[in-house]
Amino acid sequence: MTSLNDLDCQTCGACCSFSPDWPRFSTESDAALDLLPPRFVAADETGMRCSGSRCDALSGRVGFETSCLVYDIRPVVCRECVPGDDACLMARAAFGLTLPHQILG
Ligand code: SF4
Ligand code: SF4
Repeated sequence: MTSLNDLDCQTCGACCSFSPDWPRFSTESDAALDLLPPRFVAADETGMRCSGSRCDALSGRVGFETSCLVYDIRPVVCRECVPGDDACLMARAAFGLTLPHQILG
């Protein structure tokens, strides 16, 4: 039986594609932000660059296979995202994703 503990971010990517307001910078040091390739940083430098609602650093197809191209240096908000929390489930629902192997949309 599947559960929230089975959520696999690498077959999801919904929270990285939900809103351009989500991958915002917060408590990162200047040194940490300097590590991010400029092409992935928003013009106003307040967060990750997005195309529509999708972070430009997300690779792959949402709901199938995805990866973060800056995983090791990703923003704090991305590190704090917890699979199965309210934000996660809201993002997954927006893409018709509920639990693994239950792709509704
Ligand atoms: S929406 Fe949840 S399961 Fe999907 S990538 Fe984000 S944290 Fe992982
Ligand atoms: S930086 Fe990576 S983890 Fe954060 S929103 Fe973009 S693709 Fe997702």
